[in-house]
Amino acid sequence: MCTTYVAHTIAQRLQDRERDGRSDGTPAPQPLLVRLNPAVEHKTRGNAAVALHTTLDPAEAVSIVGRVVNRLAEADDPNTNPGVVAAPDDAGWSGIDDNDAVLAFARAALWDHLTIADAERVLGVTGYQSESWGNGRGRIGALAAVGAWIGRRRALEADASATTGDREGTGGGFTDWTYECISYRQRERWGTPREVAEESVYRAAEEGYPTVWDTVDRDERELVCVPHTPCPILHGVRGDDPDACETVAGAIESEPVATRETFVTNQGTDAHLHDAEHLDSVADGRAYRVAGTIGSRPETKRGGHVFTTLEDDSGAIECVAFEPTKRFRDRVRALGPGDRITVCGEVSDGTLKLEKFAVRSLRRTERATPTCPDCDRRMESAGREQGYRCRDCGTQAPEKVEREIERDLESGWYEVPPCARRHVAKPLVRGGFDAPTHPER
Ligand code: ZN
Repeated sequence: MCTTYVAHTIAQRLQDRERDGRSDGTPAPQPLLVRLNPAVEHKTRGNAAVALHTTLDPAEAVSIVGRVVNRLAEADDPNTNPGVVAAPDDAGWSGIDDNDAVLAFARAALWDHLTIADAERVLGVTGYQSESWGNGRGRIGALAAVGAWIGRRRALEADASATTGDREGTGGGFTDWTYECISYRQRERWGTPREVAEESVYRAAEEGYPTVWDTVDRDERELVCVPHTPCPILHGVRGDDPDACETVAGAIESEPVATRETFVTNQGTDAHLHDAEHLDSVADGRAYRVAGTIGSRPETKRGGHVFTTLEDDSGAIECVAFEPTKRFRDRVRALGPGDRITVCGEVSDGTLKLEKFAVRSLRRTERATPTCPDCDRRMESAGREQGYRCRDCGTQAPEKVEREIERDLESGWYEVPPCARRHVAKPLVRGGFDAPTHPER
């Protein structure tokens, strides 16, 4: 079952119970939707975890959560292993050692691989209440979501005090946040084709851009915000501002929306990327930002996947743009040996799956067989180490010449189109890159 829908249902139950018990009417903070290391194998679709806030007692909260999970999660499915963790609301405050451990755990869940034993160790230290179904793996994501909240809170505190200036040190990995307004379908429609008025989505997307992004893919004519899975989501609108996301969601004409929730999320932030100094420090199961030189002419292989090789003094790695990345493959095909670029993507089986790349410098000339200045014909080899010679007039040339090459790329960042974007990958239109950008929309 869709993680965000379970979370939304839980949030509603918690709020209902809070209303019974207290009357100050302050709204709960927005729920937090965190995407963890996309390279982890055992995961929910998109490796998502959610953190919710409640004024209820932890034991009561856990019991409410348990009832909803029992009802909604497909707990008999061996691949479904939900987990719940309840942390006190001092999460975020510096000076509480436990919070450092939980934040470190969340970073590891974002950047590396964790075991159930890792989660149990931190739960043991903090004394947080937890509950799990199946093999208990869900507690990893649940604990990481608490840690992500700590990171966010610390980043906000650092911003507010404006004295520390070291956002990365305080909230590292969880400093950049975006929003997603998710609209859910009526239960009786789950699994049936979604009724969404296509033109209204393009119109709303255009209105909201660039604050709201990845709503549609204009070139592929695809409604990116509408999922294809039989899940309860009707559409999810992503962007930098919660109100702008809600406005776009509200402007989409469709079947009735059963309910709606706006999440704070690390989607579209590149939070998963490690900066690697050299190619020999790149390892499977993690995602990187790393520089190098193109070693081989890109090659389109069976299935339409485009492969090339990136090299530096320390080694080499194969890079691939898969068929679903569509027009991005033309950008990769336009690269050539000698080009210096920076690539971003996840590494598995020794291959980096390209999410974006930056052209740092392009090779503008190549060594070529000379052309005869008189006949304008390609010369031919005059024999080993004998230089070149025109067959028609006999003009000779001592060696190959530098010839200018036409290039179809410019300096700066290129990215996969919205239809192929991974949840956590940052769209170029969001800005903050170290070179000019060529955003896809
Ligand atoms: Zn000639």
